[in-house]
Amino acid sequence: MNEKVNAAEIFGQNVFGDEAMKERLPKKVYEELKRTIDDGAELNPVVADVVANAMKDWAIEKGATHYTHWFQPLTGVTAEKHDSFISAPKENGKVLMEFSGKELIKGEPDASSFPSGGLRATFEARGYTTWDCTSPAFIRETGTGAILCIPTAFCSYKGEALDKKTPLLRSMEAINTQALRILRLFGNTTSKKVIPSVGPEQEYFLVDQKKFLQRKDLIFTGRTLFGAMPPKGQEMDDHYFGAIRERVGSFMKDVNIELWKLGVTAKTQHNEVAPGQHELAPIYAQVNIAVDHNQLVMSTLKSVAEKHGLRCLLHEKPFDGVNGSGKHNNWSLTTDDGINLLDPGKTPHENVQFLLILACILKAVDTHAELLRESAADVGNDHRLGAHEAPPAIISIFLGDQLDDVLEQLVNTGEAHRSLKGGKLHTGVATLPSLVKDATDRNRTSPFAFTNNKFEFRSLGSRDSVAEPNVVLNAIVAEAFQEAADRLEHAENFDMAVHDLIKEYIAKHRRIIFNGNGYSQEWVEEAERRGLPNLPSMVDAIPALVTDKAVALYEKFGIYTRAELESRAEIQYETYAKVRNIEARTMIDMAGKQIIPAVIKAIQGLADSMKSVSSICPEADVSVQKELLIQTSALLAETKGALEELKVQTEQALQIENVEEQARTYHDYVLPAMEALRKPVDELEMIVDKSMWPMPSYGDLLFEV
Ligand code: ADP
Ligand code: MG
Repeated sequence: MNEKVNAAEIFGQNVFGDEAMKERLPKKVYEELKRTIDDGAELNPVVADVVANAMKDWAIEKGATHYTHWFQPLTGVTAEKHDSFISAPKENGKVLMEFSGKELIKGEPDASSFPSGGLRATFEARGYTTWDCTSPAFIRETGTGAILCIPTAFCSYKGEALDKKTPLLRSMEAINTQALRILRLFGNTTSKKVIPSVGPEQEYFLVDQKKFLQRKDLIFTGRTLFGAMPPKGQEMDDHYFGAIRERVGSFMKDVNIELWKLGVTAKTQHNEVAPGQHELAPIYAQVNIAVDHNQLVMSTLKSVAEKHGLRCLLHEKPFDGVNGSGKHNNWSLTTDDGINLLDPGKTPHENVQFLLILACILKAVDTHAELLRESAADVGNDHRLGAHEAPPAIISIFLGDQLDDVLEQLVNTGEAHRSLKGGKLHTGVATLPSLVKDATDRNRTSPFAFTNNKFEFRSLGSRDSVAEPNVVLNAIVAEAFQEAADRLEHAENFDMAVHDLIKEYIAKHRRIIFNGNGYSQEWVEEAERRGLPNLPSMVDAIPALVTDKAVALYEKFGIYTRAELESRAEIQYETYAKVRNIEARTMIDMAGKQIIPAVIKAIQGLADSMKSVSSICPEADVSVQKELLIQTSALLAETKGALEELKVQTEQALQIENVEEQARTYHDYVLPAMEALRKPVDELEMIVDKSMWPMPSYGDLLFEV
């Protein structure tokens, strides 16, 4: 029987959060630390020592043996190096458990092997991790035991950001400063801080571990590189929100328990569209915490899956022919005293502050659409964006009927006098309660959709960190706020000036609004007429990082320097080339060592069958064997030809030194060569004896979890 789980009891038990700090720190120390956390005051070393000691005692009571500075290098995943608490043995041979303030606030991993995109030559190996006390420390329990994890930022010797966290924290400061200026203009003197909040919805696949281990493509690349479609895909829509199978359910239960212990508010779970696909969403949190928590969600999904004899696939497109996985990034701006700046209220046409903020967001997204697109660029995501299962690669905004109507009134008549209401939902059944509808329906094809009191950025890939998209959102909106505040703070007649500004921004940037079907070809053409950028692949998107426009934006707010941006562009190109290279080599390996030998055996079998049947019974019909023999041999020859071509293309791409040119070459030449190899192999899979096929099929992987 199911053991009882008390979520309230276990929630946060492995987090050194506010409650633990209050309980274990002297009052004065607690208050000083709070000042650092809440107001950004510098941390005093004496305080750090006391905090470190209390944190160590707490962690040891929980069974922790080691601590680690937990950071987020530009690989997109987290990194950690464990140090045990033990000191050098004393004269009596005993060790003490030690952890100083210095060890808490500063670490120096030998970081020369993390991607730095030329920011640091390998001989300048120093990199420092510094405690981000705004995200609480926690204990992770894994096979290595219990480890105290201290969330940190990671910088080079010269202070350049080598991670995803540092720019995020910088962008939070920028939007806080600029959003407060807007609030003050509207007479708000009480809110002290504006914080971006994020709720990322995480999609993933589960497959059986034993089958996973029989597929080199899943092992090396996280996705299948070959595989014929099974007789059934997702066409019946019977998996979406369907009953959760026992094995998957017990996995989800353990995931929730682990996450709750870590203070992650795992809230929603359901089956997704594709067979074998699921989703987990937490309750939204302050963005830097949301970023950390999303990393914990991803690593917990993976580790718990292994304990259940499963593997969790976070790749954006593990299987061709069924939907891939993304991550919806729900973003809003909230004050420390609980006001959501994106809440339009019941009558948005009267809510001038909201309309100004909305107009600024339209301006920001229209001005920097390429940057938003780039922030969702990931090699795996190239297989989704624009592929009729995820938003197109063209960035646009969906506002819905109500806001659209308000903007329309403003632009056409200069004034907005009414807001559309949702009205009642009529089901035609007398016994069902009548519900008040939202004023706006949803649009599932839009990359950037307004949903009640938040924007949902839907282009993100499932395995990517959510840090970057939020850096972009914070930065571009901060810029729009800054420009608006610069004008309005000097206006003689504020009411008139704000009214004019809203109208001006809407008129100028309306082209970014699109409420229709984002999957249609008409939209691609319409977007081109409107002059909106369409950057179909990651390689097309990367240049957006280093345009003068982007550098000016980021340098203005001290979020990235030009060098930091250039390094990120370089890492992106390298990542693209490396991922495609591994994929190509995996295909070469599988085709050469597994598939071709299996097909040769199958052909041998057909030939043997023909020979032996004919010798026993010359008048028997062996035309089926003959036809299959001809067909299989032809596909085998095509496979071998495509394999040789892929080898040549990969070899040529590998020689190219310029990273941008190299990434382009992988995209333009290696990728098509991979597709050309896959085609005959997938056809062969459909005609070769299943018992001879060297790996589990899509049907085995997707339907037999
Ligand atoms: P929807 O059905 O609109 O997608 P959900 O309630 O399922 O909304 O929420 C999706 C995610 O958005 C969750 O992680 C949720 O916590 C988050 N979310 C809800 N409101 C906000 C908000 N104001 N700001 C940021 N995220 C939010
Ligand atoms: Mg959603």
